Amino acid sequence: MIYTGGTIGMKQDPARQALVPFDFSQILEEVPEMRKFALKIDSYTFDPLIDSSDVEPSLWQSLVELIKERYDDYDGFVVLHGTDTMSYSASAVSFMLGNLTKPVVFTGSQLPIGAPRTDGKENLVSAVEIASGKDSDGHAMVPEVCVYFDSLLMRGNRTTKVSAENFSAFRSPNFPPLAQAGVNIKYNAALIRRPGDWDAGIVTSTTLDTRVSILKIHPGITPRVVRNILCGEDTRAVILETYGSGNAPTKDWFLDIIREARRLGKIIVNVTQCLYGSVDMNLYATGKALEEAGVVSGADSTTESMLAKLFYLLGRSGDESWILDRLTKNLRGEISD
Ligand code: ASP
Repeated sequence: MIYTGGTIGMKQDPARQALVPFDFSQILEEVPEMRKFALKIDSYTFDPLIDSSDVEPSLWQSLVELIKERYDDYDGFVVLHGTDTMSYSASAVSFMLGNLTKPVVFTGSQLPIGAPRTDGKENLVSAVEIASGKDSDGHAMVPEVCVYFDSLLMRGNRTTKVSAENFSAFRSPNFPPLAQAGVNIKYNAALIRRPGDWDAGIVTSTTLDTRVSILKIHPGITPRVVRNILCGEDTRAVILETYGSGNAPTKDWFLDIIREARRLGKIIVNVTQCLYGSVDMNLYATGKALEEAGVVSGADSTTESMLAKLFYLLGRSGDESWILDRLTKNLRGEISD
């Protein structure tokens, strides 16, 4: 169990009048149910513990390195993480861990584990059960990077945080849950990804290039803002968050800046602002114009997952056609084929 921080392990600090992290042994004191598992659970605590709003790619690198180092020692890994950036972290780790044969289950909670109505206990206990689950061949039930929250096990790179209020804080809008926990944990076995070779060994990539920006299109957006983001010196790629099925303004100035950015070698990916559905740039003239200007489709990717995928791909190569080829392919179940 890897504890990075987040509400699950926080308590009220009267001096600061705010929630601050407390240490891991106290988490286990709050959940005596954990002792009922016939499992050996070791814990690793990040120092410092952080509110996940402070997550940086260096945390993903440390997580991946830790998992790689201790990979052979465990059947599965549970990562306790704040909810605010959990989808970003689960997406990033899913790309950084290749040929995964063991579960990496992210979870957290909306209320601290010590609070009377906490959702943290159920999330934690079920995440542990899932991370240790084996099939009849002795292989992991879910050898994927997942998010478990409020009864649902979801592919991590398909998730997005949808509520700052409800216990049901995450959704996987474009892919069904991998499992649902009720009286039993019901796995959707046909949807779970499995490695081609269970013995091939894990492959990790920890070099990330973060020169990626996100531009959310909106009525009233100005040429100056668009140019600053798309053509910025420090930008190698931009995620264009477009309307509906991948539509954006067709005004000349907008498409001119897109073409200018492409001439400067910027990679531009189209991801929809809608929670559900996919980009289809052939549906409307507005989408087609983007495609003709050199924008590639992000299909039904979440923004979080596309950001992580770009960090990962840009970190691995400087060759645009190599990157574009993989960007539009399904690498870890993050987009629908
Ligand atoms: N701000 C907290 C965090 O992301 C929220 C949470 O954990 O639910 O760490």
